[in-house]
Amino acid sequence: MPPGFEQLKKNVIQKGLCTGCGTCVGLCPQKALEVVYMDGEPEPKLSGKCIPCGLCSEVCAGASIPLADMDQWLFGRKGGFKNHPLGIYRKCLRGYSTNSKIRASSSSGGATSAILNYALEKGVIEAAIVASADPQRPWRCVPFLATSTEELKKASRFTAEMVGVNSLLRETVVEKGFKKIAIVGMPCHIHSLRKIQMAKRPGEIARAIKLTLGLFCASTYYFEGIKHLLSEFAGIDQLQEVVSLDYKGGAWPGSLTAATKDGKIHHVATKHEYTWHFLGPGSKRDRCLMCPDFSARVADIATGDIFQKVSSDPNINAILVRTKTGEEVVKQAVKAGFLSVENHPPEFVPKSGLGWESKEHANIHRMKFRKRFGWPLPDYQYPVEMCHLPGKLVFP
Ligand SMILES: Cc1cc2nc3c(=O)[nH]c(=O)nc-3n(C[C@H](O)[C@H](O)[C@H](O)COP(=O)(O)OP(=O)(O)OC[C@H]3O[C@@H](n4cnc5c(N)ncnc54)[C@H](O)[C@@H]3O)c2cc1C
Repeated sequence: MPPGFEQLKKNVIQKGLCTGCGTCVGLCPQKALEVVYMDGEPEPKLSGKCIPCGLCSEVCAGASIPLADMDQWLFGRKGGFKNHPLGIYRKCLRGYSTNSKIRASSSSGGATSAILNYALEKGVIEAAIVASADPQRPWRCVPFLATSTEELKKASRFTAEMVGVNSLLRETVVEKGFKKIAIVGMPCHIHSLRKIQMAKRPGEIARAIKLTLGLFCASTYYFEGIKHLLSEFAGIDQLQEVVSLDYKGGAWPGSLTAATKDGKIHHVATKHEYTWHFLGPGSKRDRCLMCPDFSARVADIATGDIFQKVSSDPNINAILVRTKTGEEVVKQAVKAGFLSVENHPPEFVPKSGLGWESKEHANIHRMKFRKRFGWPLPDYQYPVEMCHLPGKLVFP
């Protein structure tokens, strides 16, 4: 009999290897799974009847992430951590949305929004799955389906928490009938999407995934840590008082700010403070500490920040164009006037901030210990060997 949810629970969830990406929930043909929050973190739970079909285990990228097979499937060749510090890519660019409002209100330079806007307006996709503030609990983010540029504006520019965006796959494709979709996600979301595409299972969903936009990722963070910051630095002890959270409020790279029901805007901590001094050391999700993928190695297009001074406006993205699909979309988005790009030296990317360092150096080192002690460890198929980079890191 194929494995059911009980096996996924035993092999992945109870071993601490679930990323919270939501793929199993988003694919279950019985709609028997839901995302619940356990101690504040998203986790799949059986809420209906499991008729074991093997799908949830097959597409899960919690314990098994065949990056070498993915590289072969996507690029026709293998990569690896040691010799490919940024994964395989066609172009390394920097760029920004040509819409000055989007650029100013985006996480980095608005390239992600610009690409989605282009793809939606020109019919490359019919819908995009993104993350957005939860209307019921506006201090948290949830998966959100955007079908217009107006709706895309509701996407969060940045949220530090893990959002199970892949949980919307079935609803988007099977129930709502969208046949051409894009998904924005962290490297771990994209791993599962590639597993779906490689297995061609479920076929309808595999075929509908037209564009994957990966975000560079140092880590996502336990919401408990964010809650602590709100209380410690802004005196907000009741989350119900919060009407909106902005992790990048003010000038780039911004600050965590909270608006409360009494009309006050609270400064909680600068991006630099909360990332490197508070959430970074204390509240990185444990599963993120076992991930060596910083630059969304198997996304069509991966976007990140640039901490080196490369332009007078710091709202700018690093953009790794990886696949032929990604290259065509970027080319057309530039041609249609949505996006502006120029070449970016690839060696700038791993040295920008501490993201690459924490994922592809520190985590790889940590994974060796986990292996030695026999602790649960995801298998990324490539040997976990680090690539040593010469030169200095640049901080914001
Ligand atoms: C948790 C986290 C850690 C990051 N770490 C680094 C890093 O160390 N170094 C680096 O260079 N870049 C990092 N990035 C990427 C960077 O902050 C920007 O997200 C990226 O450059 C895209 O910027 P943009 O202006 O193009 O995005 P925008 O045009 O503003 O669009 C942002 C898109 O990201 C989606 N989004 C935001 N937060 C999440 C989330 N948590 N889960 C899923 N989707 C989300 C939104 O729904 C939206 O579609 C990180 C991003 C996140 C979310």
